[in-house]
Amino acid sequence: MAVVVQKYGGSSVGNIEKIKKVAETVVKRKRAGDDLVIVVSAMGDTTDELIEMANQITDTPDKREMDALLSTGEMISCALLAIAIQSLGEEAISYTAYQIGIKTSGQYGKSLIYDIDNKKIKKSLNEGKIVIVAGFQGVNEEGDITTLGRGGSDTSAVAIAVKLKGSCEIYTDVDGIYSVDPRKYKNAKKLDEIDYEEMLELSSLGAQVMHSRSIELGQKYGIPIYVGLSNSDIKGTVIKEVANKMNMESKPITGLATSDDDVAITIRDIDNDINLLSDIFESVAKKRINIDMISQTAPMNNKVNISFTLPKADLKEALDIIEKFYSGKDKLFIDEDITKFSIVGIGMKTTSGVAARVFKVFKLNKIEVKMITTSEIRITCAIKQEDKQKAIELIATEFNL
Ligand code: ASP
Ligand code: MG
Repeated sequence: MAVVVQKYGGSSVGNIEKIKKVAETVVKRKRAGDDLVIVVSAMGDTTDELIEMANQITDTPDKREMDALLSTGEMISCALLAIAIQSLGEEAISYTAYQIGIKTSGQYGKSLIYDIDNKKIKKSLNEGKIVIVAGFQGVNEEGDITTLGRGGSDTSAVAIAVKLKGSCEIYTDVDGIYSVDPRKYKNAKKLDEIDYEEMLELSSLGAQVMHSRSIELGQKYGIPIYVGLSNSDIKGTVIKEVANKMNMESKPITGLATSDDDVAITIRDIDNDINLLSDIFESVAKKRINIDMISQTAPMNNKVNISFTLPKADLKEALDIIEKFYSGKDKLFIDEDITKFSIVGIGMKTTSGVAARVFKVFKLNKIEVKMITTSEIRITCAIKQEDKQKAIELIATEFNL
């Protein structure tokens, strides 16, 4: 049984007209002979609106109740799509995570899927039904509803595709993956295919097309993920293991991403003591706050300055921890004016001099680099936000993105 798992994002099911349109597309596909599982996000901005309602009551709503609240968005779109499909004369059945045993563990608001009991899905497919599943949600060990984190429906879809050994198609309001976000750079090129690793780097760096964990899942289980425009014949992008790396090597960089969501913290004049550093970082990590870029000055009189970036959203929580070790304006310096500017490409593994080219372009154009980190396939620089647009244009031109 070849199963196709399709996911439709919030904008694709944003109103009743759009839901009807998706129903037509799905029915056409079903009549062409595919077994279909359709995962949906909440309609339009529903999730944001639900958060907003809770925030009208309190700034610190209980996390369990937030998940109970947010999961309702997907239940609405899921049932509506089933109704729309049925009204076109095909059989459809909607399921919540609870009904099909999408089991999760970990924290509310960012739980992980550890298994899916696919019996009900298979039974419904065998009965010839189109199965519609509420994305973004699961049920934890206590039987509580949890959510997977914003944008998590992608991960629901890939997880179901893994479990059913099916293929996976993600439909959204963009027609594929571009070398650079076309809203930031108008000459950006659409990619026919992109390697999982590259896509992972790009999406964790602010290319918001996909939930990162969905790509990790696809990679782990070798499921190619198609990303494209809903209800359209325009060809999208396939995220997969790109076999023909020789071809990619001729272009060391595949994509570029920027993010303004981080803040840099510098701790000045602290003892150059690895135990102390590890205590600070461990305390921050315990709160699941992701520290990304780290840089340290060379020791002077056994004192160093250490800088690191973390998501702006986690700043307050991080400061509460760090201030237990260090406080005072002379010790702690917060820099909110940073853009994380990253270039990504598998070709970097085998091409030398990529960093040198970037730095040369920055130097010639007086773009100050505040911090740098690299991996095998990525270079990230923290630059000033005012330099962002210039940096995008220059680097995209330099590497023909
Ligand atoms: N509705 C959820 C969100 O907005 C999940 C999703 O769209 O994938 O984050
Ligand atoms: Mg999304």
